[in-house]
Amino acid sequence: MPEGDTIFRTARALGRALAGKPIAGFRSTYPMLTRFNDDAQLAGQTVERVESRGKWLLIHFSGGAALATHMLMSGSWHIYRPGERWQQPRANMRIVLENSEYIAVGFRVPVAKILKPGELTRAVGIPAAALDVLNDEFDAEAAARRVLAHQDEEIADVLLHQEVLAGVGNVFKSEICFVTGINPFCKVAALDGDRVRAAIAAAQRLLAANVLEDSGETIVTYGGRKRRTTHEADPGASLWVYGREGEPCRRCGEPIHRRIQGPDARVTFWCPRCQPMPDGCEVDG
Ligand SMILES: [Zn+2]
Repeated sequence: MPEGDTIFRTARALGRALAGKPIAGFRSTYPMLTRFNDDAQLAGQTVERVESRGKWLLIHFSGGAALATHMLMSGSWHIYRPGERWQQPRANMRIVLENSEYIAVGFRVPVAKILKPGELTRAVGIPAAALDVLNDEFDAEAAARRVLAHQDEEIADVLLHQEVLAGVGNVFKSEICFVTGINPFCKVAALDGDRVRAAIAAAQRLLAANVLEDSGETIVTYGGRKRRTTHEADPGASLWVYGREGEPCRRCGEPIHRRIQGPDARVTFWCPRCQPMPDGCEVDG
């Protein structure tokens, strides 16, 4: 599943292609969207801006409504010039939004909904801007308080709660714990505020490093920028721990461990030596 950095970069690219320009056409295979377009007449409106909120992508129209899409595992937005060959079959097309210069195509976008003016603030599941690690309005201190409110949960699970920290996905979860030396299975109750604040700061730093202008598709937390020129076959090659079970820790040489964690059974990677369990924090099972 794409994490917040991917959606952020998609929103930025769509914004550059669409924002400020009159909409020339809109099509969708989703009846709800075509009905909306029939009523609202998107052609003639402009796209005001495109933003990411965690794993949601929002396209704001000048009429006041917004198109919210979520990619889940399968979806993606592409931007083409008129006449350019699409990289996916037409059967995968779900949404097309075009202006005189560009055609934005949402392929296999599984979740799409129209938010009428005023609906965004109470739209279920779409995080507020202040919750989004990559948003300018992100409030790190408030995020630390939200994490600390989940005392009985393991820290790595809490980092995945989109209403706590929007944008962090499963890869960043393990990487954030590693770079801050936090054991992912440690209950929040056993962490002091400074450790939690360090984890929030790491989340901001690691995600921000993956939305630089020259960031590629692969998440990079380790090894600086060298992989940007190549397509690594091994997704763990640019990461500290994720995907590296049994391989030596990049800091201490101890083999990296892997375990399924949490109610959603997500995979977690960590170094037992660099990320020791603190006193007073027992591992379940
Ligand atoms: Zn280590």
